[in-house]
Amino acid sequence: MEQVFIKALPVLNTLIEAGHQAYFVGGAVRDSYMKRAIGDVDIATDAAPNEVERLFKRTVDVGKEHGTIIVLWEDETYEVTTFRTESDYQDYRRPSEVHFITSLEEDLKRRDFTINAMAMKTDGELIDYFGGRQDIDHQLIRTVGKPEDRFQEDALRMLRAIRFMSQLGFALSEETAATIERSRSLLRYVSVERKTVEFEKLLQGKSCSSALRMMVKTGLFEELPGFSDKKEHLLYASECPFSLLTEREELWTAILVYLKISAKEQTPFLKKWKLPGKVIKEASRIADTFYQELDALSMYQAGEKALISAVKIKMLSETKQVDKEKLEAVRKEYRSLPIKSLKDLDITGQDLLNVRNRPAGKWVSEELQRIEQAVVTGKLSNQKKHLEEWLKSWDQS
Ligand code: ATP
Ligand code: MG
Repeated sequence: MEQVFIKALPVLNTLIEAGHQAYFVGGAVRDSYMKRAIGDVDIATDAAPNEVERLFKRTVDVGKEHGTIIVLWEDETYEVTTFRTESDYQDYRRPSEVHFITSLEEDLKRRDFTINAMAMKTDGELIDYFGGRQDIDHQLIRTVGKPEDRFQEDALRMLRAIRFMSQLGFALSEETAATIERSRSLLRYVSVERKTVEFEKLLQGKSCSSALRMMVKTGLFEELPGFSDKKEHLLYASECPFSLLTEREELWTAILVYLKISAKEQTPFLKKWKLPGKVIKEASRIADTFYQELDALSMYQAGEKALISAVKIKMLSETKQVDKEKLEAVRKEYRSLPIKSLKDLDITGQDLLNVRNRPAGKWVSEELQRIEQAVVTGKLSNQKKHLEEWLKSWDQS
């Protein structure tokens, strides 16, 4: 058993000693069987949320009505979720109501794919009611139960199927793929926020390229915000190794670039995905820089972070890889700029007022901007004495 599970054993044992069942479940069990790096360790139990809270000193209620309590143990946090079934699915979204139950098998049955529906006991034994191991061995993503039913209950699962394809390099079972093609329009009923989470994970997967092609093949892409008329662009984007991009802003800029979203449309497009304002602003800034000729002024205006991101995306779009040496050369060039921002200028608005002996006005910031540009492009050296001399000579002429 991997160290991450061993570390969590006291949490399971606390539940078991209190007379409850407790298992490892979900992605961690899948990743462990696959010998893949393990993400969050999730725990399922028949103990009710109130009981979980009672048994542990440090807990956080993150959705008691859905059965999930976070347990803090040593320096780790674990999601402990009460066995549940989900009924009353409405409008192809997650259910408004869940029922707590005592059967592990029933809990595993409501999970999306066979590979995600295994459990592991404290002694490492796997419980696999739906052939998860076999599907992992065959590298297949298959729903637990009939895909029609499962996608009707929660249409997000269609996008999740393709997200796992991307992350794991697996194929969709034929029936799963065919059903996505038939049921794809149901995805429109799912909240944008849930789609965004899955789509970002999809882009970062190692097999993103086949996943994006599957998005096109099944037609599911038509239900992504702003994508409906972007089929050809998406096929083009499938050539981009998005997984080499590390930041959200970079991912979204690459999408803007590959989908050829015009400057005017960028913000509305990103808003459709309900991204945070900060991400939208930064992505637009990187895209701006991407389309500019790189010289001292455009590098200065971008700032180091957006500049490096833009150059990275440029490299990906041209060569499909990131040339670290070239990237460092650009960084060096940026760092050798005479100033990085207006406040690095060796002259202030007050100095200007003194030299010019004119009342303050818009002219101050305009003139500062002219000096700023001249310094950045190397026409003026950034020394107060020089700047003032230059100002005086300019005044007389
Ligand atoms: P990752 O390692 O990327 O987090 P994961 O398998 O842990 O992958 P999560 O989205 O964190 O994926 O979900 C945790 C588990 O909850 C899944 O393994 C699955 O069993 C179950 N699950 C999550 N979302 C759904 C859903 N929409 N429908 C059914 N089961 C789901
Ligand atoms: Mg997870």
